[in-house]
Amino acid sequence: MTLSNEQRKIIEDSIRNIPDFPKKGIVFKDITTLLNNKEAYGVLMNHLFERYKGYNLDYIAGIDARGFIFGAALAQMLGLGFVPIRKKGKLPYTTISEKYILEYGIDEVEVHIDAFGEIKGARVLMIDDLIATGGTANAAAKLIKQTGAECVEACFILSLSFLDGQKKLKEITNVYSLIEVN
Ligand code: AMP
Repeated sequence: MTLSNEQRKIIEDSIRNIPDFPKKGIVFKDITTLLNNKEAYGVLMNHLFERYKGYNLDYIAGIDARGFIFGAALAQMLGLGFVPIRKKGKLPYTTISEKYILEYGIDEVEVHIDAFGEIKGARVLMIDDLIATGGTANAAAKLIKQTGAECVEACFILSLSFLDGQKKLKEITNVYSLIEVN
């Protein structure tokens, strides 16, 4: 199930563009104006519920930090558990981690080793607000795989298509982006 044009417009119009944040040349996609808009937030979450209710999922995994907002809400709607994929150094128990390359330097994401339970092959939906270069999402999908779980799909509210971040990710999982930004 995909979004209708009307639903897409409601969501798209609710997201605010902030030019030159956090640095010159970047247009920051501000989803706080989606979250405080009950119509847009409702349209979004109902769409995600309708799309994923038939996927036979075991967990929703959200990427630090905005992926937690959508992921945790969706997990509750679907009656599933939620797993946070966090930036390095935040999780207190034994973790596995995956490094990825940024424009300048290296970053790392982590997940608790037992986050997806004992069952091998748990079906996981990964979610974040936005995919840009795809570095974060690729590392997070690899992490899910390393735990023995299956990343069934990666879901993003926005995709910055001009950065081609989905290309690599599509080699390891299905990708669903609600809004493509060209
Ligand atoms: P990337 O690893 O390059 O795909 O970056 C994705 C992460 O950075 C996501 O967690 C986004 O929330 C954040 N991000 C990157 N670019 C933007 C942007 N233009 N507006 C808002 N968030 C962004």
